[in-house]
Amino acid sequence: MIFFWAETPDGWGIPGIHGPWAEDELDGYVQSGVYLIRGQGENMLIDTGNWTLPEYDNGMGDFLVDLLDKEKNDLKYILITHFHYDHTGNAKMLKDRYGSLVVCHPADKPIIEDPMIITRPENITRFGVTPEEVVADFNLKEGESLGLSDPGIIETYWNFPVEVDVEVEDGDELEFGGLKVEIVHLPGHCPGHIGVWNPHTGTLYAGDLLHYPTPLGPSPIGDAKAHWNSIQRCLEIKPQLLLEGHGLSAYSPDSSKRRLLHMQRQQDDTRNRILFVLRRERKPMTTEELVPEVMPVKSDLDYAVSTGIGERRCYAECCIHTHMLWMIEQGKVERVREGGLIKFAAVA
Ligand SMILES: [Zn+2]
Repeated sequence: MIFFWAETPDGWGIPGIHGPWAEDELDGYVQSGVYLIRGQGENMLIDTGNWTLPEYDNGMGDFLVDLLDKEKNDLKYILITHFHYDHTGNAKMLKDRYGSLVVCHPADKPIIEDPMIITRPENITRFGVTPEEVVADFNLKEGESLGLSDPGIIETYWNFPVEVDVEVEDGDELEFGGLKVEIVHLPGHCPGHIGVWNPHTGTLYAGDLLHYPTPLGPSPIGDAKAHWNSIQRCLEIKPQLLLEGHGLSAYSPDSSKRRLLHMQRQQDDTRNRILFVLRRERKPMTTEELVPEVMPVKSDLDYAVSTGIGERRCYAECCIHTHMLWMIEQGKVERVREGGLIKFAAVA
């Protein structure tokens, strides 16, 4: 795997390329952006990339150590934008090596400290719902799951627990090396998703806010309405630079605004397509039936959220479902029971 890095006004960044194919998920192309903010005598690292396993070479642990060892400053903070494996993979190793404080949002802390929680009901019940309620609309058959539940997969690819030292909420400030950066809570991709705003350079670190398609988890992990509002929040911040968790980011106020508006438009388009198809068909449809037309990009490329084997291919379905829940709230769609299945219909 080839990694590259570039200087930024704050320090440096490694763009995190994310391949679209299911096979890429564990085999060479999923990377996540990792960024350094350099202060005087102290630095902050944002995200830690995925870790290296013998069977695939896309872990960036060694590459990060090479770069970080050259830094003269202490690494005071390791901030994790959200719990996903490709953003947290080397956190434990880097914390041990540099004696840093690990920072995250309280909603994602349980998974960062113990990724195996994903396989247990408490990961869902802590949000005040039951696992049965979460999967009720998906018409799962006997033995099917929504992903993120195969202990073997989680154990192998996700299980890199790291103890969190600092919990941060929206508006909190972190000081290091004479700098003060602000935490921006940007839920939607997942509940504890946070961004970092550095007012000194006008740089917003947006994590996976602009990773499409999103929200990719079932509600209440994914939340289309919260995601739309999180994008709106970033538009109001008016960043000079928008540095993303995957991809090549935006390097001017205009391109940052375009990126954000484009993502918001894609979200609106998803809901519009759902309504269009439901009205055209003039009959209730399941989320599964909506996937080929609403998420054509993902219909052939879809994979289980966990990349688990034998699980329902549900990435796109979860995304559609989170939009559906928002449209039910808006009175545009209603839930219908038909032939023992949960379906959705456009409200006339
Ligand atoms: Zn990511």
